[in-house]
Amino acid sequence: MPSSDLALFHVLRMRRLLPEAVLQERLQASTTRGVPLEEVLRVRRDLAPEVLAQALEVRARQGRRCEACGETTYLQPNQTAAATPCERCGGALLARGTSGRFGRPAGPPPPR
Ligand SMILES: [Zn+2]
Repeated sequence: MPSSDLALFHVLRMRRLLPEAVLQERLQASTTRGVPLEEVLRVRRDLAPEVLAQALEVRARQGRRCEACGETTYLQPNQTAAATPCERCGGALLARGTSGRFGRPAGPPPPR
């Protein structure tokens, strides 16, 4: 499961934006269908668009860039950048703010 989905799951759970059972079901659907969790929530209309946007902003603060490949890995509540490898290549994650251009502007996902 991508760290992005898990991180969003934690944001929604900690803020109690959705019932636990619904959250679990949506995360499951996201994993099964291979689509981002936010996309599942959007399609199901579980949250008002502005609420979802806010949750995504909160999640973005947990994103850390990999110094090797530049990919963003999202930290879970019990993780630190120093102890967490890049989910794509296993490289080291930059501490927040050291890169100067943190994260990635909103837009279509990069090609793989
Ligand atoms: Zn990497």
